[in-house]
Amino acid sequence: MKKIAILGITGSIGLSAVEVIREHKNDFKIVLASANNGYQKLLSLAEEFNILNLNVTNASLKNKITDFPKNTNITFGDDKLQELLSTIECDIVLNAISGSAGLLSSMTAISCGIDLALANKESLVMAGHLIMEKINNSNSKLIPVDSEHSAILQAIGKSNLDEVRKIILTASGGPFRTLPVNEFEKITVEQSLNHPTWKMGPKITIDSATMMNKGLEVIEAKWLFKKDISDIETVIHPQSIVHSFVEFIDGSIVAQMSFPTMKIPILYALSYPVHINSNIFKTNITDLPSLTFSEVDQERYPLFFLAKEVGKMGGLMPAIMNAANEAAIDLFLEKKIRFDQIFKIVQYIIQKEKNIQNPEIKDIISANREIYKRTLQDYLNIF
Ligand code: MG
Repeated sequence: MKKIAILGITGSIGLSAVEVIREHKNDFKIVLASANNGYQKLLSLAEEFNILNLNVTNASLKNKITDFPKNTNITFGDDKLQELLSTIECDIVLNAISGSAGLLSSMTAISCGIDLALANKESLVMAGHLIMEKINNSNSKLIPVDSEHSAILQAIGKSNLDEVRKIILTASGGPFRTLPVNEFEKITVEQSLNHPTWKMGPKITIDSATMMNKGLEVIEAKWLFKKDISDIETVIHPQSIVHSFVEFIDGSIVAQMSFPTMKIPILYALSYPVHINSNIFKTNITDLPSLTFSEVDQERYPLFFLAKEVGKMGGLMPAIMNAANEAAIDLFLEKKIRFDQIFKIVQYIIQKEKNIQNPEIKDIISANREIYKRTLQDYLNIF
């Protein structure tokens, strides 16, 4: 039985993982779980699964929580989460923390030689060079949970990476794929949070609407599969059935398909390198819709193209972009800026900030904190 730590267990990926594990109680045991704010849900899951180690990352909640389950070790704050991860006996960490807050836990898991099932793509966007270097010097395996990257991993199978000519990511195009571009100014928060094919948390749902999410995924794929950004293409595929394609050097193309549910890539990441028997989802091929593929429109999704450019720049710039994007999303969710201004903010910050090649982790963490804070303070000067 694999011992699993689930970080961000009360988020969308975390709760899907819980459903997977409920169906596979003989295969997986949760030994550690963390949540940022959703401590009530965390405590009820701890009771259901008898999880003995808990962390509430938002340390300010410490005084609010009084009724801990008996025999449970509960700690507060991100530093204590890193301590727990360093001491716990565990086979795999599922990092399902949202956004830049997930970076340190990815680094800790690899440093401790624990396999990392990575749903937190920001870890690779911000510090891909450091994470891949650590992976190369460690016993850990890095297994993507993102459906596209899980698809690529499965499509490559036992082939070598140098047999791969091209990776083709698919993108649903989000809720505004057909909305006239001159109406983007009027897009509301509620419309943006309503994704047509995937049910996800707020940050990634907004990222899917702007297609920043796909830009982050291109950078993620660059690190995971050792490809240049120019060898990673993206196509719009509104049905979200083909999760990505791999084109080999002989011209053969392999795709991975399933109904759009995160339970399948989560289960594969946990059971990797094998597929295990599961009844959690069965796809009936004849029920699938017709599949269409088209090019990404630059005018509609400027953040996607910007993110690809930033991916080529490398260094500290992807972390800078990520922090500006997180701040812009928070401003949009608070209804302080318009949807189309998310791009303007990120573009402005990228043009203004200086890049550093080969940044250290402390550079990345301080840039992330500073850029986020400064964007929230100064955004009115940008327009
Ligand atoms: Mg994805």
